[in-house]
Amino acid sequence: MFQWQGHSYGLEIRPSIAAEYADLSGGTLAVYSVFPHDRARAGKIAHKWLKTALQDLVQSRFDAMALQFNCPKPMLRTRAMRSRWGSYHPRHIVTINTELAKYPVEYLDYVILHELCHIFHRNHQKGFYDLLASYCPNYRKFQRELRKTRPTGFKALHFR
Ligand SMILES: [Zn+2]
Repeated sequence: MFQWQGHSYGLEIRPSIAAEYADLSGGTLAVYSVFPHDRARAGKIAHKWLKTALQDLVQSRFDAMALQFNCPKPMLRTRAMRSRWGSYHPRHIVTINTELAKYPVEYLDYVILHELCHIFHRNHQKGFYDLLASYCPNYRKFQRELRKTRPTGFKALHFR
């Protein structure tokens, strides 16, 4: 099982005659492999899928959120981090924790908006939260939920 955008998916290996790929649909991440009994190989195929899917998801949400801000788009970095959900560097770089892809997409949007607001307010003062509330009125809910849990780093997908 693994978590993706607020849902749990099973993992399944299916035989393939040529192409090796993974496909997320119908509650399952299906991994197509020419050697379906090789679990390590299936894990690698799944991991490759996850890496691309994470990158695409975070990039597309970041692009959508950044469009709402009247300033040049910061550079985006994505990383699996244990200590934080996101950060903004004054060199105009936003870093987003890929583990947010586990949660419903609103959580990812919230963290992106939070970091984008740091372009205008460095610290978490009233002006910062007023700005954040104008983009994300229920930011307190996301903040509360994400504080309950520490990031653990998006675990590699593996087959038992
Ligand atoms: Zn902050």
